[in-house]
Amino acid sequence: MSTVSFAQNLSVEVAKELNIKDDVYFADRDSAYLDPYYGLKKLIYGNRRFAEDKSIRPRQTDADLKNTQNGQAPFATIIGCADSRVPNEIIFDQGVGDLFITRTAGQVMAEASFGTIEYASEVLKTKLIVVLGHESCGAVDAAMKLPANPPGHVVSLINAIKPASLRAKARNLEGSEALSFAVKENVIEQVNMLRNLEPVLSRKAESGELLIVGAVYDLESGYVKFIEETILSLPRFANKSKVIP
Ligand SMILES: [Zn+2]
Repeated sequence: MSTVSFAQNLSVEVAKELNIKDDVYFADRDSAYLDPYYGLKKLIYGNRRFAEDKSIRPRQTDADLKNTQNGQAPFATIIGCADSRVPNEIIFDQGVGDLFITRTAGQVMAEASFGTIEYASEVLKTKLIVVLGHESCGAVDAAMKLPANPPGHVVSLINAIKPASLRAKARNLEGSEALSFAVKENVIEQVNMLRNLEPVLSRKAESGELLIVGAVYDLESGYVKFIEETILSLPRFANKSKVIP
């Protein structure tokens, strides 16, 4: 697939539609809150700053604290892994009041997570949700090994990630390739689950007022790679593909 930004793996089609340029690093904060496609661009540019050692650490001064003390308007909800190497505000180079975040091992979600995510959408009017997995995820790795008697509540994590790990095993991939495949499959599975989650998210995702996409963070390079199929299946792209040229 041809790419405009090799590091972030964006295809020409996606980059063009989102108006993402190769040598740009900044996107407006207010526009990101109003338009989730623009918000996606803002996350991509912020991560580009971080990965290329150009972080500006925005909105973290005393004045920013005062500005946000009476309310919040985060432009994205991130559903990420609890892994200490994936600090969301740092890797997207965002600040106070920017990201609404839930993090659990393997970004496995349960009732409380759903309520949290719906709150962001219904009350805070956040229009973009990113499910963020990462390479070398210990939770996914544990699910790949399918231990017979995982300790305590860890079993709930293993069970949730199991479908993705089984699909990776069915591919007969080796070692890190298998884990990488399972990490991506797990994110896609979680994106689909949220898109179908009734009654709030399913309705909003279908109408296009809420975007739910998936991405995988690479611990080594620092880049977040958005999963193309979760972008190309968004209403804006999906509707286009129905038009036969
Ligand atoms: Zn992890």
